[in-house]
Amino acid sequence: MSLDLAVHEAFVTLTGRDPDSIWRAPGRINLIGEHTDYNDGFVLPFALPQAAYLAAARRDDEVIRITSVDLGEQFEATLGELAPNQDGWHSYLAGVFWVLREAGYPIGGADLALASDVPIGAGLSSSAAIECVLVEALNDLYDLGIAPMDRAKLARRTENAYVGAPTGLMDQAASTLCTQGHALFLDCRSLEVQQVPLDLAAHGQAILVIDTLTRHSHADGEYATRRADCEQASALLGVPALRDVPIEGLDERLATLPDERLVRRARHVVTENQRVLDACAALRADDLARLGELMTASHASMRDDYEITEASVDLAVEVALAAGAAGARMTGGGFGGCVLVLAGQSRLDAIGAAVTAAFVESGRAAPATFVARPAAGAGRLT
Ligand code: ADP
Ligand code: MG
Repeated sequence: MSLDLAVHEAFVTLTGRDPDSIWRAPGRINLIGEHTDYNDGFVLPFALPQAAYLAAARRDDEVIRITSVDLGEQFEATLGELAPNQDGWHSYLAGVFWVLREAGYPIGGADLALASDVPIGAGLSSSAAIECVLVEALNDLYDLGIAPMDRAKLARRTENAYVGAPTGLMDQAASTLCTQGHALFLDCRSLEVQQVPLDLAAHGQAILVIDTLTRHSHADGEYATRRADCEQASALLGVPALRDVPIEGLDERLATLPDERLVRRARHVVTENQRVLDACAALRADDLARLGELMTASHASMRDDYEITEASVDLAVEVALAAGAAGARMTGGGFGGCVLVLAGQSRLDAIGAAVTAAFVESGRAAPATFVARPAAGAGRLT
């Protein structure tokens, strides 16, 4: 059964009535621009066909009732009893009500049925999908008239202030603002966005996502030390953020840093920001070969300068390139997760098979793969 039908059915079971409507908000993947967000830099995510679906209707009281089709669980609370730092899947949804109330929006209760095919914990942002789909629904149900970027900010605030996860704005901005056939350029300082054409099929190309299924427990600690390195480097370089270091004369500038590790960390961030700008230019010029080069260069920078890759993602990239990919890179925070492969459509099967064979040969589990078509951002379906 399709997910829109599944949530409709679950809603009727929960409430005995039809929902007002059904909304959808997608997961996302980052095409290029890794660890640039907290350096006030640039990212270029696109929305995935995988998405969260929500059937919803207003209530006249202050009760929220939620049923999760995927987990087979239900949650019920009144708006007055919501408080931050709750555990559990429902906190991503209850938190949206809390954040909207805190921001002064006049909302009451609602009945909700949720289902999603964004895989959980794979780096495709299943959490942003469920937050954004609910912000979207409440914005419509209560006629709040919240502008798209503000909707994304409220969803992010849910994750930061209610769930208690310190994440950036990229995931919620992508889920809310992306449009089909485009990547979303986001300037993480000014919050300026641009829709950048990503019509791969028109050029006989596609992006294959290879989930290496590797997740490393030390990733959080490594993330914190990378952030600290960047703060130290920007302070020593006398700039507000590494975003402000120009690419011209970079080597001379970085040579003033006292520590080789800081040189490499800063070099990744500055060159990665430039690669995002170059990738936008390449896409606007229909130059997918150049996009591929930039993706591969991004991976090398993450591997050698930022040191956030690990053996499985390096193997996937290496084998994909040897099997004829135009470009390949790890995507997401690092130390495992997914690899993006840009290739001609006719080569995808061979590349997927070569990576799978290399994984099995080296004693790893076969990776999960899917083709990522740039999909639409959040909205009402019916
Ligand atoms: P991700 O990288 O997928 O965003 P997170 O740890 O940030 O991983 O968020 C995953 C959490 O979001 C899950 O543990 C669960 O609490 C919630 N979640 C995501 N999708 C669903 C769903 N379909 N139903 C219920 N909860 C979900
Ligand atoms: Mg998440």
